[in-house]
Amino acid sequence: MKAAIIVDVEATRAIRQAEVGAARTMIERTEERLELCPERIAADSAYGSAEMLGWLVSERAIEPHIPVFDKSARADGTFSREDFAYDQQSDVYLCPAGRVLASTGTLVNDGATLLYRASKHDCDACELKPRCCPKMPSRKVPRSIHEKARDVAREIAKTDAYVRSRRERKKIEMLFAHLKRILRLDRLRLRGPLGARDEFLLAATAQNLRKLAKLIPIPALQPA
Ligand code: SF4
Repeated sequence: MKAAIIVDVEATRAIRQAEVGAARTMIERTEERLELCPERIAADSAYGSAEMLGWLVSERAIEPHIPVFDKSARADGTFSREDFAYDQQSDVYLCPAGRVLASTGTLVNDGATLLYRASKHDCDACELKPRCCPKMPSRKVPRSIHEKARDVAREIAKTDAYVRSRRERKKIEMLFAHLKRILRLDRLRLRGPLGARDEFLLAATAQNLRKLAKLIPIPALQPA
């Protein structure tokens, strides 16, 4: 990233869902208006929900350089989901004792999660049960229907390109710092969503003009 030019602006309320929605809107709008489609998106974990990663990877073919939002790690010492190996070919998990956890294919919770269950027969006879599902008859492992996209993001997070993206993201954060400190946008003056949109649009224009002035050398003045 050389110039860090702002290509779109979408003002939202400071809530995660709205911000993620705004990111999607801007990606679609930028492609529509400027025929620009990013190869990768760098963002913080607020944008790393399963649904957002699924949309980026499966629908837009955009590399997510985004930390995966994952709450599957367990703090009570029992096995976490990462202790279960997923076998993509058979669509089953294998538990630490080598037993199979399968799904019936029924979506649960938010309609975007499958449950993979071990058999009660296996768990009853398992010596690892106290470390696995001490309070349940058998173990179940939830898997998002967007897990494949989450795995893509996890793999990207191990690459040098991801480290570079994180560095480059700082340039964007500096733009926001500049917006607040220098252009005094820590407080909006116009009312309502339309007022906010106009203020941010003007501020982004000012920032791009600043950039332009630096990128285009000023011709030397000719003596009269
Ligand atoms: S308790 Fe069940 S799921 Fe857990 S390790 Fe044993 S057999 Fe596998």
